[in-house]
Amino acid sequence: MHVGPARVSAPYNVCYSVASMRETRHSVCPHDCPSQCALSVTVESGRVTAVAGDSTHPFTRGVVCGKVHDYAERLYAPTRVLTPLKRVGAKGEGRFEPVSWDAAIEEIAHRWRRVIAQWGGEAILPFSYAGTLGLVQYWAGHPLFHALGASQLDRTICVATAYAGWAATVGTVAGNDSEHMADSDLVVLWGINASYTHINLMSLVKKARQRGAFIVCIDPYRTQTAKFAALHLQPRPGTDGALALGMMHVLIGEGLVDHDYIQRATVGYGTLAQHVKQYDPVRLAAITGLSSEAIVSFARRYGACRAMTTAVEPAAPSPACPRSPVPMRMRRAARSSPPRTPSGSI
Ligand code: SF4
Repeated sequence: MHVGPARVSAPYNVCYSVASMRETRHSVCPHDCPSQCALSVTVESGRVTAVAGDSTHPFTRGVVCGKVHDYAERLYAPTRVLTPLKRVGAKGEGRFEPVSWDAAIEEIAHRWRRVIAQWGGEAILPFSYAGTLGLVQYWAGHPLFHALGASQLDRTICVATAYAGWAATVGTVAGNDSEHMADSDLVVLWGINASYTHINLMSLVKKARQRGAFIVCIDPYRTQTAKFAALHLQPRPGTDGALALGMMHVLIGEGLVDHDYIQRATVGYGTLAQHVKQYDPVRLAAITGLSSEAIVSFARRYGACRAMTTAVEPAAPSPACPRSPVPMRMRRAARSSPPRTPSGSI
């Protein structure tokens, strides 16, 4: 609720505004980011003066990343684009001029009419994703394009493949309670630079480390997250799939497999076990650039742990995240007879 500046009368009959209309409002980060950080926004006399993490939120606990930390400045920045911009030079020249919304809508509609008349609606291919749209605006354009008969596109530039992979291998796109990660004794950050891309996940990883968890990062780059890990495995770019096959070779070959789980919850295990036989550590070393000792040692650690969490990208949505039921953790199908802790089963 905004309350305008109060006006009071000075003793000598001069009116002035009292600049004390300061309030804090609860909000949530608009970015399409699985963290869904809760925000605490300071508003003074109707103007946002500070944006910080909301420390009262039970999951995000006052954490906010650098993208959003300076939102108050960005909101009023003179360089912020507030009108449609029309390109006036050649493509790539970078020359644009502001136009009114009416003019922009008129021109776009005119072009679309021409395209539809000549080629039909399917000649229009809408392409967009989430950005900072939020749920309502994210879907808002769809009815328009549907009415135009435009081509249909899975409107995502990142998660579709991950979702398809999860659905194909796990059967559903659903996750565990990410807070259980703190009880893990092994955390594997597989291809995720969580220090930059998922700060709330890192809070849980830090908590797990404080409780004694061993942190492994698998990434060709030496990222900030990799520096945090106790073990950084740097396979050549694009070879981590082979690394997974090699790990399965060791796990299955050495009997570090939870047969009860495999019996209950998987299909095709026999075929897989046969397939991974060819990925012995020596061959894997040649593919990945890792030493065969490192591969075997990691696989044994993986197979021997009590409660393991593997985080992949996209990962660990906040429980508040309404449209990211993305599995934040792959549970291991390895190791027989582990004590079944909340974070130790698949
Ligand atoms: S981590 Fe994600 S949800 Fe949190 S403030 Fe940054 S962009 Fe927003």
